Amino acid sequence: MPGSSLRILVVGAGIAGLAAARALRLAGFRPEVVDKLPASTVAGAGIYLPGNATRALRVLDLDAPVRPCGEVVTRQRFLDVRGRELCEVDLVKLWDGVGECRALPRADLHRVMLSGAGGAVRHETEVTRVEAVAGETVKVEFGDGSSAEYDLVVGADGRRSSVRVMAALGSAAVPVGQVMYRSVVTGGPKISEWTAVLGKRAAFVVMPMGGGRLFCYADEAGTAAPSDPLARVRELFEGFGGPVPAVLDAVEKVQVAVTDEVEIGRWSQGPVVLVGDAAHATAPTLAQGAAMALEDAVVLADSVRRAATVAEALGEYERRRRPRTRWVLERTHDRDRLRDVAPALRDPLLRRRGSTIFADHYKELVGPH
Ligand SMILES: Cc1cc2nc3c(=O)[nH]c(=O)nc-3n(C[C@H](O)[C@H](O)[C@H](O)COP(=O)(O)OP(=O)(O)OC[C@H]3O[C@@H](n4cnc5c(N)ncnc54)[C@H](O)[C@@H]3O)c2cc1C
Repeated sequence: MPGSSLRILVVGAGIAGLAAARALRLAGFRPEVVDKLPASTVAGAGIYLPGNATRALRVLDLDAPVRPCGEVVTRQRFLDVRGRELCEVDLVKLWDGVGECRALPRADLHRVMLSGAGGAVRHETEVTRVEAVAGETVKVEFGDGSSAEYDLVVGADGRRSSVRVMAALGSAAVPVGQVMYRSVVTGGPKISEWTAVLGKRAAFVVMPMGGGRLFCYADEAGTAAPSDPLARVRELFEGFGGPVPAVLDAVEKVQVAVTDEVEIGRWSQGPVVLVGDAAHATAPTLAQGAAMALEDAVVLADSVRRAATVAEALGEYERRRRPRTRWVLERTHDRDRLRDVAPALRDPLLRRRGSTIFADHYKELVGPH
């Protein structure tokens, strides 16, 4: 499609929106990007990027600026609740020829993505209405009362997407019965590998993220966030072994989220299309949220560049992306179910076959997006 003449709006400047903007710019388009929040609003958490996220960053020509950030993770160790080894996954072998796995501050990734999007992001600009005009273009209204018409609107506005609702593509995200805690710890114990300690319907994961800091995330079964997440984490993981007691001693602040997921029948309606969490959010069990958002962006821009019409491009995008996002959703469910099996049954199985089981969850994702 003729690049420069297509009027494109990307709604949301998270990982999905900034990646979509970057990919579309590389493909010769000039998308606008808006986000309802101020530029300074980036969570102070960490993020773990598996090898396929690195591969997509390479395609977006953003891997080089991400490389100095955080720390490469080469091995995943799974321990039982007392801290005894269950199994491990060799990440170098698993992602051989794809890309390295890395843990880094979210803010660092965001900074790189923001400069990659060309800096043309209008913050504090909320999309309040999306309305089809003659089926071919879309009229968008903004919170400040202004409006504009576009040939393509990319809804990258996260798991609670309002574009999804306004374009009649689906309703609210569905809670999965999991409460998730995140923390960045300074001054904790020295940990050099991604380490998970698996308890009864609860797990604690910790990994190095550079600068002497640790990125931790933990989950438990539940549907409501506790009022004091730090106290809850200390109480919940008190009896856990391995590195957990030393990490808990150093934890000062904990973010909490009730996890939900998005599974909808179609991702586009006329010239409005969804990417990232807005289209297919899952629980963060496999840490594939950023990778899927980055891959979506690469495939969407490629489809728009190749196709003769927007409709053809969006059909092609969804056809190429669905199998991979479905795989992530199903393997996330598999892994969450495994966590919920009683440790007396689960742990012997993981000692025997855990390395294969956990590596297999990424099998389809090693291949090209
Ligand atoms: C606890 C937790 C831990 C996670 N850990 C990892 C991990 O280690 N690795 C990993 O890969 N993934 C992880 N994820 C998932 C990952 O963060 C997301 O999948 C990824 O960031 C993609 O997000 P997104 O850009 O689609 O949406 P978001 O990050 O939610 O961005 C959406 C943006 O849209 C904006 N917006 C919303 N509505 C409007 C509107 N109407 N108008 C304008 N702007 C709007 C919002 O302000 C926001 O900036 C985790 C998720 C959770 C909840």
